[in-house]
Amino acid sequence: MKGRFGGAATGMRTHWCGELRVEHAGEQVRLCGWVARRREHGEHLAFVDLRDRTGTVQCVVDGAADLRSEFVVRITGTVRARPEGTANPALGTGDIEVGECTVEVLATAEPPPFPVDARADDVDETTRLRYRFVDLRRDRLQRNLALRATVNSAIRRAMERLGFVEIETPMLVASTPEGSRDFVVPSRLSPGSFYALPQSPQLFKQLCMVGGLDRYYQIARCVRDEDLRADRQFEFMQLDMEASFVGQEEVLGFVSEAVAEAAEAVTGQRPAAIDRITWHDAMDRYGSDKPDVRFGRELVDLTPVFAATGFNAFKAPCVKGLRMPGGAAMTRNQLDGLTADAKRWGAKGLVWMRVEPDGSLSSPVVKFLSGDELAGVGAGLGAKPGDLCLLVADDWATACHVLGLVRLALGRPAVYEGGHRFLWVVDFPLFESVDDDGRPVPAHHPFTMPHGEDWDLLDGSGEALLRARSQAYDLTLNGWELGSGSVRIHRADLQSRIFGLLGIDEEEAARKFGFLLDAFAYGAPPHAGFAVGIDKLAAILAGEENIREVIAFPKTQSGADPLTGAPTAVDPALLAELGLRVLPR
Ligand code: ASP
Repeated sequence: MKGRFGGAATGMRTHWCGELRVEHAGEQVRLCGWVARRREHGEHLAFVDLRDRTGTVQCVVDGAADLRSEFVVRITGTVRARPEGTANPALGTGDIEVGECTVEVLATAEPPPFPVDARADDVDETTRLRYRFVDLRRDRLQRNLALRATVNSAIRRAMERLGFVEIETPMLVASTPEGSRDFVVPSRLSPGSFYALPQSPQLFKQLCMVGGLDRYYQIARCVRDEDLRADRQFEFMQLDMEASFVGQEEVLGFVSEAVAEAAEAVTGQRPAAIDRITWHDAMDRYGSDKPDVRFGRELVDLTPVFAATGFNAFKAPCVKGLRMPGGAAMTRNQLDGLTADAKRWGAKGLVWMRVEPDGSLSSPVVKFLSGDELAGVGAGLGAKPGDLCLLVADDWATACHVLGLVRLALGRPAVYEGGHRFLWVVDFPLFESVDDDGRPVPAHHPFTMPHGEDWDLLDGSGEALLRARSQAYDLTLNGWELGSGSVRIHRADLQSRIFGLLGIDEEEAARKFGFLLDAFAYGAPPHAGFAVGIDKLAAILAGEENIREVIAFPKTQSGADPLTGAPTAVDPALLAELGLRVLPR
């Protein structure tokens, strides 16, 4: 206990509540905390459960009538073994109690808006966040925030061991080319001009490399004005890193070490070496660039089965299928729902086939398919009686994407279940798409180094460009994207070539990234980096599905903070000073 929480002793108290055990029997102790519960015990006596961040302890108090829940008190008393048969094995301190107590009320308290020991799910979120200072007293948040601190300190330990230097980059920056919407801050000294809050320290960490700092890291606050979700807040923290004279292999090694150290610090077990999958295989087998590999249900290529099909819906460049064991029991309503979802996700349709007890396939489309085709589906998917086969025909990317979503919609474990399956996804494409003018759209940022073997493809167009791979890589954990990074372009000639392809002319390049390009002209080392989302990592390690459970003061889904009232209007005088006027909407 001491090791984990530090020594309790201060002028006001001698021990933590949660650390008292039978070996303390006979000791006089002074404890400080909140009244968790009071139960009458005879006419004058009451059991008062006293809580601090280490746990609760039962105190037997004479004349406690005025003590109410959540009063802040100091109790002085003597530790003693509980009477025979009254021990509480569910409580760390359950073998003892504190008797002969004197109580000092340090602060009275209004009745709490919800019982501190209520299950979090029983209290609505706005109320929890409005009274976050009470919510934070719960075991769950105490545990989660302590775990998060453990993750941060383990990461720092690993990074320092690897020779990285912690460097803080500014919060008020110029708008970055990162791709999301910026939060902007008006400048008082230059009315009409704005700072942006950093979407990430990307450009600064690259400048650190030009500055010879060689190995930079920071547990950095990043801010992006995007819609909020279970795994996304406006503000988030990432382990941000960059290193010089390294390539992809070294970065993967550094990051693996940092996340392994964090996972081990929390679970006591070092996770297994992290497997790798290429982006292409991830899409092909799981229909996702953040594949959840904790369960099978992999996508299977059935294109050859339908090479000569007479069924129009399957005359497509690609036919993909998956098998849902036991899925034949799904009702027609459920299947119609799934089909509607698949269409919403971009497919022209979703074909389902039930595997009957005799092994034959039944489906509204069976009459359009040949015996060989049906046999090919059964064999290709390894179908067994009671299974459901699901097929999508389209171009490769759409078929994989939609069937990947179908795979997840059929059910998946909660993100924290089944251990911690980290996975590297490597060889991301350099470009995400090609626009109507034939211009490629970058998949990562425009400083990402193309794959060493794919420079030739950059001379081509359309199809060839889309085949070009980059030296960009992601880390995933249990189907969540934990982070991404890349080897950067550090040479002006290569950078101009990529800018040229992207249609970024010199004027635009200078306007958007001028300072980085200028810096590169003064001697940029080859460098590469990565960023790992700390909120997501901490949530999964804490067994939570929502990152708000590992953040002390998160925002609601609509971006509000019910506690402070943010966002709020500001004083008109302040607006005037900033040269701003708010238009009616
Ligand atoms: N700046 C990137 C991000 O925030 C990470 C990186 O490429 O290092 O996702």
